[in-house]
Amino acid sequence: MANEYDLVVIGAGSGGVRAARIAASLGASVAIVEGRFFGGTCVNVGCVPKKMFAYASEFSGLSELAADFGFNVEAGQFDWSRLRANKDKEIARLNGVYERLLSHAGVNIFLGYGRITASDTVVVGDETLKAKNILIATGGQSYMPEIPGAELALLSDDLFVLPQLPKTAIVVGGGYIACEFASILSGLGVTVQQLYRGELFLRGFDRDIREHVAKSMRGDGIEISFNADVVEITRTDTGKRVTLTDGSTLDVDEVFYAAGRIPKVSGLFDGVDVTMAPNGAIKVDEHFQTNIPGIYAVGDVTGRVQLTPVALAEGMWLAHHLFGDAPTPQVEYENIATAVFCHPNVGTIGLSQEAAAVKYGAVRVYKSEFRPLRFSLGDIQHRTLMKLIVDDATDRVVGLHMAGDEAGEIVQGFAVAVRMGATKADFDRTIGIHPTSAEEFVTMRQAELVQRP
Ligand code: FAD
Ligand code: NDP
Repeated sequence: MANEYDLVVIGAGSGGVRAARIAASLGASVAIVEGRFFGGTCVNVGCVPKKMFAYASEFSGLSELAADFGFNVEAGQFDWSRLRANKDKEIARLNGVYERLLSHAGVNIFLGYGRITASDTVVVGDETLKAKNILIATGGQSYMPEIPGAELALLSDDLFVLPQLPKTAIVVGGGYIACEFASILSGLGVTVQQLYRGELFLRGFDRDIREHVAKSMRGDGIEISFNADVVEITRTDTGKRVTLTDGSTLDVDEVFYAAGRIPKVSGLFDGVDVTMAPNGAIKVDEHFQTNIPGIYAVGDVTGRVQLTPVALAEGMWLAHHLFGDAPTPQVEYENIATAVFCHPNVGTIGLSQEAAAVKYGAVRVYKSEFRPLRFSLGDIQHRTLMKLIVDDATDRVVGLHMAGDEAGEIVQGFAVAVRMGATKADFDRTIGIHPTSAEEFVTMRQAELVQRP
């Protein structure tokens, strides 16, 4: 006899867990199918362990800073296996938390990889689950370009289980993961060279911020090569040899690739014809429904905005839409705040100067670059850059950007104001908190008027 549910969710990651939990709390009978780990990418091989490693990487600079404040702290030996073990312990705890969240909410858990065999049927192992609604929340996986020697490259998942840290590493890519991993590895003592195929990394972010980050990361000792790409990786006696587009070669211990993530759908459909976009993502309408009524998809597998809070918002919206009794406001994709946890951190909301000038025609640009108070007692040269982009016609702040310590924490607060349509006059009327870096955002005076190119 088949199990019958109002909702069967495939994938217990950010989007799937949230949708399952909320749906169950609204009275639906819910099952969730998970093949690998509770909490998905974010908890196991993404946001959470990455941030722990990013914190770890900051300690290497702290003995110098402590000395500026009068503390003579000897920089001790860094123990990678201890960091990894502590990380594993905390992640195992979080796995348990996620599993309990689901079971306490009354969600039935099935371990294994799920297949959709009909518009109302999911098969996992020997079990057949009947579903009024199916939610695909299977996330994504690293993309590896098909170059000779691709199998020798490490992907982001590998960092979290690496038995020992390499002495030297190449990081290929210029997006979130490449910049974060380059900073983490460098902070932990690895000699890092980052290769990006374009003229400046972090494409899509504000140009001044990108330049500031490149300069700062180089200042931290990371060698960054732009307009450089890999054509081949081979094995040497001691490590890997990378051949670049210009014919030159580099010998290192390890090569990390961070060239984007692709939707995870392999083996998911068995006789069901769900429409996919050209990039392999599942196509959904404004209700997250696929071309097949009753089959939905949220999160990274839809290939739109690959961020945990977006997957959470989508999962929550869908649960309310299917099982709630009041209409739910649509998920907003404009003005999503985001942070890159490289060193320095980048925090951003709204449009870059370049995109805003194109959209609004004339924008006022306010900029502040300074050495934070924390670094003022010695020779540490870390600098912070903050920018406001204001639509000249309406005075609305349409972009807010920061590269510096705790940029994510600071921008999260300002994100509410920007989303609500705050004007520069609103910022000016806000009295700052002194002395902080964040107060710069409410005290900026000198503007440059930038016109559409
Ligand atoms: P996932 O969290 O990937 O969950 C999908 C789940 O489905 C997985 O548990 C998987 O095992 C399971 N699954 C897949 N196929 C099947 C199947 N057929 N049957 C059963 N189970 C299946 N985002 C941020 O917002 N901030 C960050 O700092 C951040 N850092 C990141 C760092 C890294 C290194 C990476 C890789 C990603 C990071 N992200 C970050 C992105 C974030 O992790 C994803 O956007 C988010 O996890 C997407 O959630 P999801 O529910 O769509 O998928
Ligand atoms: P990104 O899309 O951020 O960056 C991919 C990078 O790889 C780009 O620089 C891209 O270059 C480059 N690239 C693409 N194809 C190739 C290729 N064939 N050869 C060489 N380089 C290539 O992806 P990531 O893998 O860094 O991260 C995936 C997603 O996960 C992010 O987009 C983000 O949504 C999420 N994430 C979020 C984090 C956060 O919130 N802090 C942290 C980590 C991940 P080009 O720019 O030229 O296209």
